[in-house]
Amino acid sequence: MSDSSSLPFIPYGKQWIDEDDISAVVEVLRSDWLTTGPKVTEFENAVAAFCGAKHAASYANGTAALHGALFALGIKKDDEVIVPTLTFAASSNAVLFLGAKPVFADVDPDTLLIDPKKIEALITPKTKAIIGVDYAGQPCDWVALQAIAKKHKLKLLADACHSIGGEFNSKKVGTLADITVFSFHPVKQLTTGEGGMALTDSDEYAERLRLFRGHGITSDHRQREKTGAWFYEMQELGYNYRLTDIQSALGLSQLKKLPAFLKKRRELAKYYDQAFLGSEDIKPLKTDKNALHAYHLYVVRVPERDKVFKILRERGIGCNVHYIPVHLHPYYQREQGTKIGLCPVAEEAYGKIITLPLHYSLSEKDLERVVCELKNAIKA
Ligand SMILES: *Cc1c(COP(=O)(O)O)cnc(C)c1O
Repeated sequence: MSDSSSLPFIPYGKQWIDEDDISAVVEVLRSDWLTTGPKVTEFENAVAAFCGAKHAASYANGTAALHGALFALGIKKDDEVIVPTLTFAASSNAVLFLGAKPVFADVDPDTLLIDPKKIEALITPKTKAIIGVDYAGQPCDWVALQAIAKKHKLKLLADACHSIGGEFNSKKVGTLADITVFSFHPVKQLTTGEGGMALTDSDEYAERLRLFRGHGITSDHRQREKTGAWFYEMQELGYNYRLTDIQSALGLSQLKKLPAFLKKRRELAKYYDQAFLGSEDIKPLKTDKNALHAYHLYVVRVPERDKVFKILRERGIGCNVHYIPVHLHPYYQREQGTKIGLCPVAEEAYGKIITLPLHYSLSEKDLERVVCELKNAIKA
């Protein structure tokens, strides 16, 4: 085997920052506004326009946006919220933040997305909402999820932290649920350092989303006229979950490049698809012909995953595992009483999945190296 120790480490995900991004941030640093200024609204409007949604409320990060979204949807103590187990823990942690109970749904064995066929059995009189997670960047079957939500009068939340730029049935992510949440963490398609956003077509949800991120404080204009400009009232228990102008300037600059970021991710994914076509050992996830994939992650199933993972890391390939099913985390087992066997499809997948490097700055040559090292690792 050739010596790859001299070759650079390839991370699984990484941001792409150019001089335009840097200038945009510097410009804000020289301006009068650092936090809630004109760039925040400009960035919110730009993301809403990109997705075809009526409103967008920015948040300090995706997790905070999930928290705000569940608050806006009216989730309260002891409500139940159905959430797929194969996701980042934040998807269900946000349910716990409001004192509600996450009820874990198993995933489809081919796509690893929440399995609509398994949802209705989990619905009880306490169920208030369903969270769909567009795992790896492939939108869920939002038509099926909408039908279940409508039939049982449940709210629908899209954790679209992987899927900005995706579509289902030619409808854009951002318009497929009551509220849709994005994350702008550096490994996601576009970044603001930390950052998030919640999109909705509902005026009421938009108002509650904005209330929640700003301490639950409102300033009623009529009251202000009566009592003076200082007047404000705290109507709800909110948080300081605001995004800054500095971050929003970066986000605006990154958003201009999002179509190019997505195009590159889709090209690289196609390269992997072709490289693994007909492979006995390396099984990519199935893609749905009704979905336009946004490729946050490229996930394959492999035999002896732990061995393969270790060898790849030794050879400088920054693979990863997304995710430990949430119900298996010690905190959930201890505090929520979840156990092995609750979601057998996700548990089985967890033993085999590995995430391969996928980001804008990778070349086909880099992918060639990943594919070669992966095949060698399996044979080893
Ligand atoms: C990244 C991510 C989040 C949380 O986003 P942060 O911005 O890191 O708080 C939530 N859900 C999923 C599925 C994610 O991938």
